Amino acid sequence: MPLPDATEGGVAGHLPWGGDTRTALTTAAPSPRNRRGSAPLPAPGRPEAPAENRPGPAARPRPDPAAAYGPRRERPPPPPPSPLPGGPAAGGGEAPPTLPRGPPGSRAPAARRRAAAPDGAAATPLALRLREVLSRLSLGRQDVSDASGMVNQVVSHLIQAIRSQDSSFSSIERLGAGSYYEHVKISEPNEFDIMLVMRVERLQLDECDETGAYYYLTFKRNPKEKYLLKFLDEDKRLSAFKMLQALREIIKREVRNIENMEVSVKRKKAGSPAITLLIKKPPAEISVDIILTLEVQQSWPPSTQDGLRIEQWLGRKVRGKFRNTALYLVAKQNKNEKVLKGNTWRLSFSHIEKAMLNDHGRSKTCCESDGPKCCRKSCLKLLKYLLEQLKMEYTKELDKFCSYHVKTAFFHSCVMWPNDTDWHVGDLDHCFQKYLGYFLHCLQKSQLPHFFIPKYNLLSLEDKASSDFLLRQINNEFNNGFPIFQKRY
Ligand SMILES: [Zn+2]
Repeated sequence: MPLPDATEGGVAGHLPWGGDTRTALTTAAPSPRNRRGSAPLPAPGRPEAPAENRPGPAARPRPDPAAAYGPRRERPPPPPPSPLPGGPAAGGGEAPPTLPRGPPGSRAPAARRRAAAPDGAAATPLALRLREVLSRLSLGRQDVSDASGMVNQVVSHLIQAIRSQDSSFSSIERLGAGSYYEHVKISEPNEFDIMLVMRVERLQLDECDETGAYYYLTFKRNPKEKYLLKFLDEDKRLSAFKMLQALREIIKREVRNIENMEVSVKRKKAGSPAITLLIKKPPAEISVDIILTLEVQQSWPPSTQDGLRIEQWLGRKVRGKFRNTALYLVAKQNKNEKVLKGNTWRLSFSHIEKAMLNDHGRSKTCCESDGPKCCRKSCLKLLKYLLEQLKMEYTKELDKFCSYHVKTAFFHSCVMWPNDTDWHVGDLDHCFQKYLGYFLHCLQKSQLPHFFIPKYNLLSLEDKASSDFLLRQINNEFNNGFPIFQKRY
């Protein structure tokens, strides 16, 4: 049953953990009592304390960061819409001891916070460490910029060639997407995703599983795109596999003609025609994943109906505007298919994710040169980096996790804490902890709904062991002051 459309103050039913906005706020949002990190999250470890003297996470009782998210219940009923966004919590939460969030536009919490922590003056050990990490990460920007120059050159060359060599792809274009373009690219300046987009007039979408994210595509009668008919499979479905195969052949031929650079196409894995370019840039290599994307001017499918609950954060109008943009589908094998035929496509919202990251403030001027500064992007960068570092250390155990999990949790956090003052730049340590606390809560429940497709859980229960593993590692890092931030791989 579709959830009701969110009304003012009533988004709780859509929250990823089935909780209540206000419950989270009362337990995890800044308040004079807990803003230094004493509750609900455990205090970060003191870096000066030798790690071996500190009991491990299993050895001593300690507050549970994920417990900050209120009573653990399976899918509580959505609370009735409340006309007072800051009012007593519905759905089982307690009334807030101090109201962390006034009605929209209220300035009081910000003023309180600023008095306690002037801009940039937060001097907790954790805050200092986080700022040190951020400044180190921003040093890599020149590398990213050099690498992206090379990637641009290669991709422009290839697009010209693809267009001219195969009429099926004559309309192909490049769509800027992925983290570099969102300006949150972090430790790897040498990995890029490039979306190559083809416009298609109209497609029939049929869900191929219950995630609501993967589809089979067929053409309506008499499609305009006759040149795509050769890519249909025996079930008349548009085959991502066949299209990628054709594209791959052209690209393989064409990379030889690129001057001044050594470019190759990575050998494909069995059964997958995914295209990865390797560009030599001594002493390393830049890898570029080519993502074949279809752009269709039609309304978003029903599975997205209750997603993108940004009304309280970016506003109802912005949500409407986003939902009116085209639909993007990327060639992506659904691994749950019994027989891998390479004919499934997955919805992609990267263009909207990019727009939300760039225009992330409730006020239009957030983080503009003359506007107030927030720490949303810093928090995202830090958690991405934390996951990347942990993946370096535990590659196999954390294989199931990628930056998209972190990004999804980030967007949910932006919805839970929608005000710019909830992310005041001077509160970096506190904001990072509450975002991290929410992520841990998701891991604990193995429940992280796709931001645009709420019924699609990105942390399936089948992967519970992985979630538990990551939960333990992050808790361990947290309790010891994030030693992994100092490691160099
Ligand atoms: Zn901002």
